[in-house]
Amino acid sequence: MSQTMLLLPGDGIGAEVTEQARRVAEVIAPDLRFEEGLVGGASIDANGEPLTVDTLVKAKSSDAVLLGAVGGPKWNDVDRHLRPEMGLLQLRKGMDVFANLRPAFCFPALVDASSLKREIVDGLDIMIVRELTSGVYFGEPRGFERGIGDKSFGYETSRYTAGEIERVSRVAFDIARGRGGEVASTEKSNVMESGLFWRETVTELHATEGEGVKLRHILADACAMELVRDPKQFDVILAGNLFGDILSDAAAMLTGSIGMLPSASLSYEGKPGLYEPVHGSAPDIAGKGFANPCAAILSLEMSLRWSLGQPDAADRLFAAVGNALDAGARTRDLGGTLSTQEMGDAVIAAL
Ligand code: NAD
Repeated sequence: MSQTMLLLPGDGIGAEVTEQARRVAEVIAPDLRFEEGLVGGASIDANGEPLTVDTLVKAKSSDAVLLGAVGGPKWNDVDRHLRPEMGLLQLRKGMDVFANLRPAFCFPALVDASSLKREIVDGLDIMIVRELTSGVYFGEPRGFERGIGDKSFGYETSRYTAGEIERVSRVAFDIARGRGGEVASTEKSNVMESGLFWRETVTELHATEGEGVKLRHILADACAMELVRDPKQFDVILAGNLFGDILSDAAAMLTGSIGMLPSASLSYEGKPGLYEPVHGSAPDIAGKGFANPCAAILSLEMSLRWSLGQPDAADRLFAAVGNALDAGARTRDLGGTLSTQEMGDAVIAAL
């Protein structure tokens, strides 16, 4: 039976870059069937809400979801609970995609686009596995207390259950087994109870399910320093939601442009994954036709690998992006002149 990908182009450059990913998919995975839906501002305009139940149902019954980006100034004044970004949070929560994979890979042709020295990033290949649906971003209680002076405060709760830590750690161990075999787990166990619990839980799981994986623990602040001092020491970095958010952004920028960075968000085996570029809707360049589609194309590559069971096609697509870059294909963010469509053409030609 053919597999189905739900395309959710979203807003701004989201539609422009997912169009190129779809063209590439038609070449590399010709049997893939597509459905399209609305999310973010596009869904607010059409349906009055950033994600409809119908779209969530479609997402959960597809084999993979490829999303562009959401948001933009047009929706700045809508109520907080109806903002375009809420559509994305609802989709992640609704699909139960608890493990966010953010590769930080430096294509040889782009080594000089990094803000770090060539010898520090040349050959860089890290996978960050971030817990995505729990931790301090979701923990209850949270809120504001309004009072006078020190009686006013804002607070949230950093909370992880053992099950939440174990399921994302399993994903990190599995991924490490297919790469360099090393996991660096990060937290702040020196000052946070939830951090100490994280460290103990990962250690216990490793003792029973960590065969073939070398585990080490590193405090999140030390990890941030090491990422810019000597990033190639890392293979897989495992982190909770908050530290994973910060560390993955820092690691990503080691590799050059935000237009090159894909992500995958995975649930349990057999459930669909959510694939999306790391970048946003880029209102400053939307509609101009020169956004870099590589992050969306590489998100497609991750979907072939992690949801669609086509690792060979994924390898070929990854190589094609590298070959297109080697041949000099560059959009403006990479210092070139190609349009979004021409960059898509270059990847298809390399395929
Ligand atoms: P952004 O990622 O949209 O843009 C940051 C900068 O990078 C801009 O200068 C933009 O032109 C450039 N850029 C981004 N993607 C590019 C690409 N593919 N090619 C070339 N240049 C690219 O971040 P922002 O400006 O902070 O946010 C804009 C909107 O996007 C906001 O509404 C924000 O909430 C939303 N956002 C959405 C997501 C998402 O959908 N996952 C992520 C981040 C931001």
